[in-house]
Amino acid sequence: QEMFGRLGVSVRNAVQRIGNGSVVTQKDIDKALREIRIALLEADVALPVIKTFLQKVQDQALGRNLVKSLYPDQLISKIVYDEMLALVNNDPVHWARRSSILVMGLQGSGKTTLCGKLAFMFKAQNISTLLVSLDPYRPAAQSQLAVIGNSIGVDVLPVVEEDVYTTAKRALSKTPFYDHIIFDTAGRLHVDKELMEELVQLQSIIRAKENLLVCDSLIGQSITEVSKSFSKLTLNGIALSKLDANHKAGVILSLKSLLDLPIKFLGTGEKPQDFMQWDAKRIVNRILD
Ligand code: GDP
Repeated sequence: QEMFGRLGVSVRNAVQRIGNGSVVTQKDIDKALREIRIALLEADVALPVIKTFLQKVQDQALGRNLVKSLYPDQLISKIVYDEMLALVNNDPVHWARRSSILVMGLQGSGKTTLCGKLAFMFKAQNISTLLVSLDPYRPAAQSQLAVIGNSIGVDVLPVVEEDVYTTAKRALSKTPFYDHIIFDTAGRLHVDKELMEELVQLQSIIRAKENLLVCDSLIGQSITEVSKSFSKLTLNGIALSKLDANHKAGVILSLKSLLDLPIKFLGTGEKPQDFMQWDAKRIVNRILD
C-alpha cells in the first residue's frame, strides 16, 4: 500500500480500462501496456528491466490470445503478477543455525539497525544471538549496537581495546554458546581501499554463512554502483533498508536483474521490530495491492 507507492493503483487502473467483454482490441492492450510502462518508470524500475518485463507481458498476451479472451482484464492482471514475481527472488530465505552473519555496507545505510532487527527476529523464534561490533573507529557505533542489544535483550560482545581481527576471533570463540553471531562492520561514506582490505581479511577469518550487503533503498538505482564497489567481497544477499521512507517499489523489482544477488530482508523503520522477512509472493501482492 503506502509503502510501495502508487504502482499497484496505476497498474490496476491501466488494466481496468481494458475492460472485459468482446470488444477488446490490440490497440486497447497496447494502450494499457504503455500506461503500465509509465507506472513502472514512476516507481523507479530500471529501464532495461522495464523493457524485458513488458516484452514478456506482451508475448504472454499474444500467446494466450488476450483479444479473444472472455476476461482480458483478469488475464492481463495474472500475466503482470506472474512476470513481476519472476523479476524478484522467489526462493524462501533460510537462516541456517550455528552460523555467522556478516553485515556490510556504506556508513548510514542501516547496518547497525539491521543487526538489531535480525537479532530481534531470531529472539522471537527462540534462536539465540550474539551481536558483535567490528567498528572500533566509531565508539558511537559500538555503543549504538550495545543500546540496541540491551533494548531487545540480546547479548552484545563487550568492547575491548584491540584490533578488529582479534575481536572477530574473540567473538568466534563464543560460537558454542549461540545459534548466530551477527557481526556489524565499519562503514565509510565512500568505499576506500583500506576498508575493503579489512573486510576481505575479516571475511577470511569469519567465514560467515551469510554475507549481507545493506543498501539504503532511497539511493534507488545507484545501488548498482554501491554493489560494484563491494565487488571484491563475497556477498550472498542484499538487505534493503528504509523502505518506509521510499514509497517506490522500483529497487525491489530491479535488483535481481541488476545485481544477480537475492534480496533477503527488508527494513521498514528505525525500530528493531520494523522489518519484513523476504517473501516474494507477499511482497508482489503488496506492491500490486
Ligand atoms: P549504519 O551506519 O550503516 O550502521 O546505519 P544505522 O543503522 O546507524 O542507520 C542510519 C540511520 O538510518 C539511523 O538513523 C537509523 O535509525 C536509520 N534507519 C536504519 N534503517 C532504517 C529503516 O528501515 N527505516 C528508517 N526510516 N530508518 C532507518
